[in-house]
Amino acid sequence: MLEIRNLRKAYGAHVVLHDVSLTLRPGTIHGLVGANGAGKTTLLNCLYGLETDFSGVVRDTAGRAVREHTGLLPYEPYFYPRLTGREYLEFCLQARGRAVADFTGWNRLLELPLDQYADEYSAGMHKKLALLALLVQQFDYLILDEPFNGLDLEANLLLKEILRRLRDRGTGILLTSHILGALTETADEVTVLVGGLVQRHYLAAEFGTLETDLLNSLHREKLGLLSSLL
Ligand code: ATP
Repeated sequence: MLEIRNLRKAYGAHVVLHDVSLTLRPGTIHGLVGANGAGKTTLLNCLYGLETDFSGVVRDTAGRAVREHTGLLPYEPYFYPRLTGREYLEFCLQARGRAVADFTGWNRLLELPLDQYADEYSAGMHKKLALLALLVQQFDYLILDEPFNGLDLEANLLLKEILRRLRDRGTGILLTSHILGALTETADEVTVLVGGLVQRHYLAAEFGTLETDLLNSLHREKLGLLSSLL
């Protein structure tokens, strides 16, 4: 299990995460939701070790280094300019000391032009390539920052199914999305982050009230304003 306990992260005087605790269990999809600037990406970066200057506990309870068995999909994946999609995948595997796999099966699903330079791909194709690199590595845990963003409808539906199947095989998946439906259709639990604090943790049986609660809590003032307009 990946565990975050009492995480506090500040940039200078700006405290971005106050006292956040959260767990990611194997075989679970855990959604993270919150307004722009709530601290979601910062939390994922602390968990994966891209940020190290924080207080609190971030650990794999099995005693392994989190990054050893965890794959990260960053919000904006980076690609070296003169690598083809295939070379990028090979590079990712080799950087982890893994054998180069046959990508044909997965790529029949995602349909990427793997022999073209990755920096010539569209935004959605970049996202698919970064996802493909994670899928071929078979991680125990996945941390996905806005995985649905930029994908076309078909790829969105496919990704939801891929995530469910990975979960059923034991993968623990922590993901952010601004598309509430994408989370409630896939996640087993959802944590709502407001201003760097966990506002509430919902189990799947409680998702029925999630949208109303979010509207009420995140936008109470704006709903008042809307009522005066419409
Ligand atoms: P979004 O939904 O827009 O992606 P988020 O919930 O992922 O937002 P973060 O990117 O974690 O939010 O940012 C949280 C806060 O931390 C914001 O106020 C942001 O300006 C600030 N922040 C993030 N990275 C840095 C940085 N490197 N230096 C200073 N402030 C930062």
